[in-house]
Amino acid sequence: MLPMDCHTHTYCSPDSDAPAGSMISRAQALGLRAYALTDHIELCRFFPQGFYGVPARNEEDFFDYAARYEHSMQQNQLAKDLYQGGMQLISGIEMGEPNADFALAESLLQDKRLDFVIASLHELPDRLDFYFLDYAQEDVDALLDAYFAELWKICKWGKFDVLGHLTYPLRYIAEAGVSVDMTKWQEPAAECLKAVIRNGRGIEINTSGYRQKYGRPFPDREYLELYRDLGGTILSLGSDAHCPEDVGGGIAEGAALAKSCGFEKVCYFLRHEPHFIEL
Ligand SMILES: [Zn+2]
Ligand SMILES: [Zn+2]
Repeated sequence: MLPMDCHTHTYCSPDSDAPAGSMISRAQALGLRAYALTDHIELCRFFPQGFYGVPARNEEDFFDYAARYEHSMQQNQLAKDLYQGGMQLISGIEMGEPNADFALAESLLQDKRLDFVIASLHELPDRLDFYFLDYAQEDVDALLDAYFAELWKICKWGKFDVLGHLTYPLRYIAEAGVSVDMTKWQEPAAECLKAVIRNGRGIEINTSGYRQKYGRPFPDREYLELYRDLGGTILSLGSDAHCPEDVGGGIAEGAALAKSCGFEKVCYFLRHEPHFIEL
């Protein structure tokens, strides 16, 4: 039995067209113990475009995540009201760039409809999502320095439930054929993980990388072992599915990896409280 999938998107996210019902049906069919809807809410573009007074930088530069947020919360509430199965259904968000506005992040955290917040860093201030960068033209060392510096701000703030896909840029760097020795960022990564632990928060194993050419989870074993060695115990599992076929994808591998790294339990969140499931 798969323990959980606590990172999935629906059509409330700009990069998915999946109805929540089809995602939940798939999760139910897989026999998941817990399942979370976590649509993208990017805080760096939370308000309508006019608020920022800037042009869209490309066709995927979406604004007004405030409207998406409200839509997503209403959808999740309705799903929780209608769902009759035995699986624990969780209303979450993937909060992108909380470092753009920590006060806004904290006000959203007051929402009683919200069980679970994944904090993710998809882009650096005034830069595009790591997905869009041209790594042949970029100073990859400087990018990773900036990535861990921004991540540190998020971890030090520490009011999320789990930190999303630690090492997110590595997929795009690897897919661009650029090799990096991550030894240099071991210490910054450890400082981020220490802050997460100090704040009583957790991290996720995001298994989407198993479905991609990259072939590894976010984060991979070396960071999970570091997290364990530093005393980290709060760990969730999420596929980052954007369509029903990907729900639960890589979760068995992620659970086996967690176990082999010395974790005995994984957890899901209700009203921001961790609930543990034995592996
Ligand atoms: Zn993400
Ligand atoms: Zn996601």
